[in-house]
Amino acid sequence: MVPLYNEADNVAELLRRLRSVVEGLTVQPAAWELICVDDGSRDATLAILLDAAAVDPHLRIISLSRNFGHQIAATAGLDAASGDAVVLMDGDLQDPPELIEAFLAKFREGYDVVYATRRRREGESRFKLLTAAVFYRTIRRLTNVSIPVDTGDFRLMSRRVVAALRDSRERHRFIRGLVSWVGYRQTGIEYDRAERFSGASKYPISKMVRFAIDGITAFSEIPLRIATWFGFIVSGVAFIVGLFEIGLRIFTGYNLPGYTSTIFAILFLGGVQLITIGILGEYVGRVYDEIKGRPLYLVAENVGNGLAAADSPPSTAPVVR
Ligand code: UDP
Ligand code: MG
Repeated sequence: MVPLYNEADNVAELLRRLRSVVEGLTVQPAAWELICVDDGSRDATLAILLDAAAVDPHLRIISLSRNFGHQIAATAGLDAASGDAVVLMDGDLQDPPELIEAFLAKFREGYDVVYATRRRREGESRFKLLTAAVFYRTIRRLTNVSIPVDTGDFRLMSRRVVAALRDSRERHRFIRGLVSWVGYRQTGIEYDRAERFSGASKYPISKMVRFAIDGITAFSEIPLRIATWFGFIVSGVAFIVGLFEIGLRIFTGYNLPGYTSTIFAILFLGGVQLITIGILGEYVGRVYDEIKGRPLYLVAENVGNGLAAADSPPSTAPVVR
Protein backbone atom coordinates (compact mmCIF):
# COMPACT_ATOMS: atom_id res chain seq x y z
CA MET A 1 0.00 0.00 0.00
CA VAL A 2 1.31 3.38 -1.04
CA PRO A 3 0.41 6.91 0.14
CA LEU A 4 0.74 9.50 -2.61
CA TYR A 5 0.74 13.26 -2.52
CA ASN A 6 1.41 15.16 -5.75
CA GLU A 7 3.35 12.27 -7.27
CA ALA A 8 1.89 12.43 -10.80
CA ASP A 9 5.30 11.97 -12.41
CA ASN A 10 6.05 8.90 -10.34
CA VAL A 11 2.79 6.95 -10.52
CA ALA A 12 3.24 5.27 -13.90
CA GLU A 13 6.78 4.12 -13.11
CA LEU A 14 5.71 3.00 -9.63
CA LEU A 15 2.88 0.85 -10.99
CA ARG A 16 5.15 -0.58 -13.68
CA ARG A 17 7.88 -1.57 -11.21
CA LEU A 18 5.43 -2.97 -8.67
CA ARG A 19 3.66 -5.09 -11.27
CA SER A 20 6.89 -6.49 -12.60
CA VAL A 21 8.09 -7.29 -9.07
CA VAL A 22 4.89 -9.13 -8.17
CA GLU A 23 4.84 -11.00 -11.47
CA GLY A 24 8.45 -12.01 -10.95
CA LEU A 25 7.99 -13.38 -7.43
CA THR A 26 9.28 -16.92 -7.11
CA VAL A 27 6.33 -17.93 -4.95
CA GLN A 28 3.25 -16.36 -6.50
CA PRO A 29 0.73 -15.04 -3.97
CA ALA A 30 -2.77 -16.51 -4.22
CA ALA A 31 -4.14 -13.01 -4.52
CA TRP A 32 -2.73 -9.54 -4.20
CA GLU A 33 -3.91 -5.97 -4.20
CA LEU A 34 -2.22 -2.63 -4.56
CA ILE A 35 -3.82 0.07 -2.49
CA CYS A 36 -2.94 3.63 -3.47
CA VAL A 37 -4.09 6.39 -1.16
CA ASP A 38 -4.29 9.77 -2.80
CA ASP A 39 -3.65 12.23 0.01
CA GLY A 40 -5.50 15.18 -1.48
CA SER A 41 -3.04 15.73 -4.35
CA ARG A 42 -3.46 18.91 -6.34
CA ASP A 43 -1.91 17.50 -9.50
CA ALA A 44 -2.96 14.67 -11.81
CA THR A 45 -2.07 11.87 -9.37
CA LEU A 46 -5.67 10.83 -8.71
CA ALA A 47 -6.70 10.97 -12.38
CA ILE A 48 -3.76 8.77 -13.37
CA LEU A 49 -4.55 6.30 -10.59
CA LEU A 50 -8.22 6.09 -11.57
CA ASP A 51 -7.32 5.49 -15.21
CA ALA A 52 -5.00 2.69 -14.18
CA ALA A 53 -7.60 1.16 -11.84
CA ALA A 54 -10.13 1.03 -14.66
CA VAL A 55 -8.01 -1.59 -16.41
CA ASP A 56 -6.26 -3.29 -13.50
CA PRO A 57 -8.41 -5.25 -11.01
CA HIS A 58 -5.52 -5.46 -8.54
CA LEU A 59 -5.62 -1.75 -8.00
CA ARG A 60 -7.62 -0.15 -5.26
CA ILE A 61 -7.73 3.63 -5.04
CA ILE A 62 -8.73 5.53 -1.95
CA SER A 63 -8.78 9.27 -2.22
CA LEU A 64 -8.92 11.36 0.94
CA SER A 65 -11.07 14.47 1.22
CA ARG A 66 -7.98 16.67 1.58
CA ASN A 67 -4.28 16.44 2.42
CA PHE A 68 -4.01 14.69 5.79
CA GLY A 69 -0.28 14.03 5.80
CA HIS A 70 1.84 10.98 5.12
CA GLN A 71 1.20 9.06 8.34
CA ILE A 72 -2.58 9.44 8.17
CA ALA A 73 -2.64 8.55 4.46
CA ALA A 74 -0.66 5.41 5.25
CA THR A 75 -3.12 4.64 8.05
CA ALA A 76 -6.04 4.93 5.63
CA GLY A 77 -4.35 2.40 3.34
CA LEU A 78 -3.56 -0.01 6.17
CA ASP A 79 -7.18 0.19 7.35
CA ALA A 80 -8.32 -0.90 3.91
CA ALA A 81 -5.75 -3.66 3.43
CA SER A 82 -7.00 -7.20 3.74
CA GLY A 83 -4.00 -9.37 2.88
CA ASP A 84 -2.17 -11.84 5.12
CA ALA A 85 0.85 -9.61 4.69
CA VAL A 86 0.89 -5.91 3.87
CA VAL A 87 3.84 -3.90 2.56
CA LEU A 88 3.89 -0.18 3.25
CA MET A 89 6.10 1.90 0.97
CA ASP A 90 6.58 5.42 -0.36
CA GLY A 91 5.32 6.36 -3.79
CA ASP A 92 8.46 8.13 -4.99
CA LEU A 93 10.43 4.92 -5.62
CA GLN A 94 12.91 5.72 -2.88
CA ASP A 95 11.83 2.41 -1.40
CA PRO A 96 12.73 -0.16 -4.09
CA PRO A 97 9.78 -2.52 -4.73
CA GLU A 98 12.35 -5.21 -5.53
CA LEU A 99 12.85 -5.65 -1.78
CA ILE A 100 9.37 -7.19 -1.48
CA GLU A 101 10.75 -10.59 -2.49
CA ALA A 102 13.15 -10.51 0.48
CA PHE A 103 10.37 -9.27 2.78
CA LEU A 104 8.18 -12.21 1.81
CA ALA A 105 11.01 -14.69 2.37
CA LYS A 106 11.38 -13.46 5.97
CA PHE A 107 7.59 -13.43 6.38
CA ARG A 108 7.48 -17.10 5.41
CA GLU A 109 10.17 -17.79 8.00
CA GLY A 110 7.60 -16.64 10.53
CA TYR A 111 8.36 -12.99 11.14
CA ASP A 112 5.45 -10.63 11.72
CA VAL A 113 7.34 -7.48 10.80
CA VAL A 114 10.17 -7.12 8.32
CA TYR A 115 11.48 -3.57 8.20
CA ALA A 116 14.04 -2.11 5.83
CA THR A 117 17.02 -0.34 7.35
CA ARG A 118 18.81 2.23 5.21
CA ARG A 119 22.44 1.44 4.69
CA ARG A 120 22.94 4.36 2.34
CA ARG A 121 20.72 7.14 1.15
CA GLU A 122 21.25 8.48 -2.34
CA GLY A 123 20.54 12.02 -3.36
CA GLU A 124 19.56 13.40 0.03
CA SER A 125 20.90 16.68 1.32
CA ARG A 126 23.55 16.58 4.03
CA PHE A 127 21.12 18.40 6.24
CA LYS A 128 18.49 15.66 5.86
CA LEU A 129 21.04 12.94 6.53
CA LEU A 130 22.34 14.68 9.64
CA THR A 131 18.93 15.54 11.09
CA ALA A 132 17.69 12.01 10.38
CA ALA A 133 20.72 10.45 12.09
CA VAL A 134 20.31 12.68 15.16
CA PHE A 135 16.56 12.05 15.24
CA TYR A 136 16.73 8.26 15.16
CA ARG A 137 19.35 8.19 17.88
CA THR A 138 17.58 10.70 20.11
CA ILE A 139 14.27 8.91 19.88
CA ARG A 140 15.99 5.67 20.71
CA ARG A 141 17.32 7.13 23.96
CA LEU A 142 14.11 8.88 24.93
CA THR A 143 11.49 6.25 24.28
CA ASN A 144 10.54 3.11 26.07
CA VAL A 145 9.90 1.01 22.96
CA SER A 146 12.95 0.00 20.96
CA ILE A 147 12.57 1.67 17.59
CA PRO A 148 15.22 0.53 15.08
CA VAL A 149 17.56 3.31 13.90
CA ASP A 150 17.73 4.51 10.27
CA THR A 151 14.50 2.73 9.49
CA GLY A 152 11.54 4.39 7.84
CA ASP A 153 8.05 3.11 7.28
CA PHE A 154 9.07 0.82 4.42
CA ARG A 155 8.19 -2.59 5.83
CA LEU A 156 6.09 -5.71 5.63
CA MET A 157 3.55 -6.38 8.35
CA SER A 158 1.47 -9.46 9.04
CA ARG A 159 -2.28 -9.34 9.31
CA ARG A 160 -2.26 -9.29 13.12
CA VAL A 161 0.19 -6.38 13.23
CA VAL A 162 -1.99 -4.40 10.81
CA ALA A 163 -5.01 -5.27 12.97
CA ALA A 164 -3.17 -3.93 16.03
CA LEU A 165 -2.47 -0.66 14.20
CA ARG A 166 -6.14 -0.52 13.27
CA ASP A 167 -7.01 -0.71 16.95
CA SER A 168 -4.58 2.08 17.86
CA ARG A 169 -6.46 5.16 16.80
CA GLU A 170 -4.12 7.79 18.22
CA ARG A 171 -4.11 10.91 16.09
CA HIS A 172 -0.49 12.04 16.10
CA ARG A 173 0.67 8.90 14.47
CA PHE A 174 4.21 7.68 14.36
CA ILE A 175 3.67 4.43 12.54
CA ARG A 176 7.17 3.00 12.88
CA GLY A 177 6.97 3.51 16.65
CA LEU A 178 3.55 1.90 16.84
CA VAL A 179 4.80 -1.10 14.92
CA SER A 180 7.72 -1.54 17.35
CA TRP A 181 5.30 -1.21 20.24
CA VAL A 182 3.09 -4.01 18.83
CA GLY A 183 5.86 -6.57 19.33
CA TYR A 184 5.75 -10.12 17.91
CA ARG A 185 8.76 -11.31 15.94
CA GLN A 186 10.41 -8.47 14.06
CA THR A 187 13.49 -8.38 11.92
CA GLY A 188 15.22 -6.00 9.55
CA ILE A 189 16.98 -6.19 6.23
CA GLU A 190 19.40 -3.59 4.93
CA TYR A 191 19.09 -1.71 1.68
CA ASP A 192 20.43 1.33 -0.13
CA ARG A 193 17.77 4.00 -0.31
CA ALA A 194 17.46 5.31 -3.84
CA GLU A 195 17.01 8.84 -5.01
CA ARG A 196 13.50 10.09 -5.67
CA PHE A 197 12.40 9.04 -9.17
CA SER A 198 10.95 12.48 -9.80
CA GLY A 199 9.84 15.59 -7.92
CA ALA A 200 10.88 16.98 -4.57
CA SER A 201 10.40 15.76 -1.01
CA LYS A 202 6.99 16.48 0.49
CA TYR A 203 8.61 16.79 3.91
CA PRO A 204 9.82 20.37 4.38
CA ILE A 205 11.69 21.20 7.58
CA SER A 206 8.49 22.29 9.37
CA LYS A 207 6.86 18.88 8.74
CA MET A 208 10.07 17.12 9.77
CA VAL A 209 10.06 18.94 13.11
CA ARG A 210 6.37 18.14 13.69
CA PHE A 211 7.03 14.52 12.83
CA ALA A 212 9.97 14.34 15.26
CA ILE A 213 7.93 15.91 18.06
CA ASP A 214 5.03 13.53 17.35
CA GLY A 215 7.36 10.56 17.51
CA ILE A 216 8.96 11.58 20.77
CA THR A 217 5.80 12.67 22.59
CA ALA A 218 3.90 9.58 21.48
CA PHE A 219 6.45 7.22 22.97
CA SER A 220 8.16 9.08 25.78
CA GLU A 221 7.22 10.98 28.91
CA ILE A 222 10.85 11.95 29.52
CA PRO A 223 10.43 15.53 28.19
CA LEU A 224 7.79 16.06 30.88
CA ARG A 225 10.38 15.20 33.51
CA ILE A 226 12.87 17.72 32.16
CA ALA A 227 11.16 20.37 34.27
CA THR A 228 11.80 18.31 37.40
CA TRP A 229 15.45 17.78 36.50
CA PHE A 230 15.97 21.44 35.74
CA GLY A 231 14.26 22.27 39.03
CA PHE A 232 16.62 20.08 41.02
CA ILE A 233 19.72 21.27 39.17
CA VAL A 234 18.84 24.95 39.42
CA SER A 235 17.89 24.76 43.09
CA GLY A 236 21.06 22.74 43.80
CA VAL A 237 23.21 25.40 42.19
CA ALA A 238 21.25 28.17 43.94
CA PHE A 239 21.77 26.47 47.28
CA ILE A 240 25.55 26.21 46.82
CA VAL A 241 25.82 29.78 45.56
CA GLY A 242 23.66 30.91 48.49
CA LEU A 243 25.92 29.18 51.01
CA PHE A 244 28.94 30.76 49.33
CA GLU A 245 27.38 34.24 49.50
CA ILE A 246 26.46 33.83 53.16
CA GLY A 247 29.98 32.60 53.95
CA LEU A 248 31.45 35.58 52.12
CA ARG A 249 29.20 37.99 54.03
CA ILE A 250 29.91 36.47 57.45
CA PHE A 251 33.64 35.89 57.17
CA THR A 252 34.76 38.85 55.05
CA GLY A 253 31.84 41.26 55.32
CA TYR A 254 32.06 41.57 51.54
CA ASN A 255 28.85 42.14 49.57
CA LEU A 256 28.68 42.27 45.75
CA PRO A 257 26.34 44.69 43.99
CA GLY A 258 25.28 41.56 42.07
CA TYR A 259 23.60 42.98 38.97
CA THR A 260 25.12 40.44 36.58
CA SER A 261 24.24 37.44 38.69
CA THR A 262 20.70 38.72 39.26
CA ILE A 263 19.98 39.36 35.59
CA PHE A 264 21.52 36.02 34.70
CA ALA A 265 19.32 34.19 37.19
CA ILE A 266 16.19 35.95 35.93
CA LEU A 267 16.91 35.24 32.26
CA PHE A 268 17.98 31.66 32.87
CA LEU A 269 14.98 30.80 35.01
CA GLY A 270 12.65 32.61 32.62
CA GLY A 271 14.00 30.56 29.73
CA VAL A 272 13.75 27.29 31.60
CA GLN A 273 10.18 28.08 32.61
CA LEU A 274 9.12 28.92 29.06
CA ILE A 275 10.69 25.75 27.69
CA THR A 276 9.02 23.54 30.25
CA ILE A 277 5.65 25.24 29.82
CA GLY A 278 6.06 24.67 26.08
CA ILE A 279 6.71 20.98 26.67
CA LEU A 280 3.64 20.75 28.88
CA GLY A 281 1.70 22.50 26.12
CA GLU A 282 2.75 19.85 23.58
CA TYR A 283 1.29 17.10 25.72
CA VAL A 284 -1.81 19.02 26.80
CA GLY A 285 -2.48 19.91 23.15
CA ARG A 286 -2.31 16.23 22.27
CA VAL A 287 -4.75 15.34 25.03
CA TYR A 288 -7.12 17.99 23.66
CA ASP A 289 -6.74 16.66 20.14
CA GLU A 290 -7.50 13.10 21.22
CA ILE A 291 -10.50 14.10 23.27
CA LYS A 292 -12.17 15.81 20.32
CA GLY A 293 -12.42 12.33 18.83
CA ARG A 294 -12.70 13.38 15.21
CA PRO A 295 -12.19 10.74 12.53
CA LEU A 296 -8.54 10.39 11.51
CA TYR A 297 -9.40 11.02 7.87
CA LEU A 298 -12.34 11.21 5.49
CA VAL A 299 -12.58 9.24 2.29
CA ALA A 300 -13.79 11.02 -0.82
CA GLU A 301 -13.60 8.16 -3.28
CA ASN A 302 -13.02 4.44 -2.94
CA VAL A 303 -12.53 2.68 -6.23
CA GLY A 304 -11.84 -0.99 -6.88
CA ASN A 305 -12.16 -3.96 -4.59
CA GLY A 306 -8.61 -5.23 -4.43
CA LEU A 307 -8.50 -8.61 -2.76
CA ALA A 308 -12.22 -8.58 -2.08
CA ALA A 309 -12.83 -8.81 -5.83
CA ALA A 310 -11.10 -12.15 -5.94
CA ASP A 311 -12.88 -14.01 -3.18
CA SER A 312 -16.08 -12.23 -2.18
CA PRO A 313 -18.74 -9.97 -3.64
CA PRO A 314 -17.84 -6.26 -3.59
CA SER A 315 -18.09 -4.95 -0.07
CA THR A 316 -20.25 -1.94 0.58
CA ALA A 317 -19.10 -1.48 4.15
CA PRO A 318 -18.38 2.13 5.08
CA VAL A 319 -14.70 2.89 5.08
CA VAL A 320 -14.76 6.11 7.05
CA ARG A 321 -13.11 5.65 10.41
N1 UDP B 1 3.09 11.91 1.27
C1 UDP B 1 1.72 11.93 1.54
N2 UDP B 1 1.17 13.03 2.14
C2 UDP B 1 1.93 14.12 2.50
C3 UDP B 1 3.34 14.08 2.25
C4 UDP B 1 3.88 12.96 1.66
O1 UDP B 1 1.01 10.96 1.24
O2 UDP B 1 1.38 15.08 3.03
C5 UDP B 1 3.68 10.72 0.61
C6 UDP B 1 4.55 11.05 -0.59
O3 UDP B 1 3.78 11.16 -1.76
C7 UDP B 1 5.49 9.87 -0.62
C8 UDP B 1 5.65 9.50 0.84
O4 UDP B 1 4.54 10.10 1.53
O5 UDP B 1 4.91 8.76 -1.31
C9 UDP B 1 6.97 10.00 1.42
O6 UDP B 1 7.09 11.38 1.21
P1 UDP B 1 8.46 12.06 0.74
O7 UDP B 1 9.12 11.25 -0.31
O8 UDP B 1 8.14 13.47 0.40
O9 UDP B 1 9.30 12.01 2.09
P2 UDP B 1 10.90 11.82 2.20
O10 UDP B 1 11.25 10.60 1.41
O11 UDP B 1 11.51 13.06 1.66
O12 UDP B 1 11.11 11.64 3.67
MG1 MG C 1 10.84 10.35 -0.51
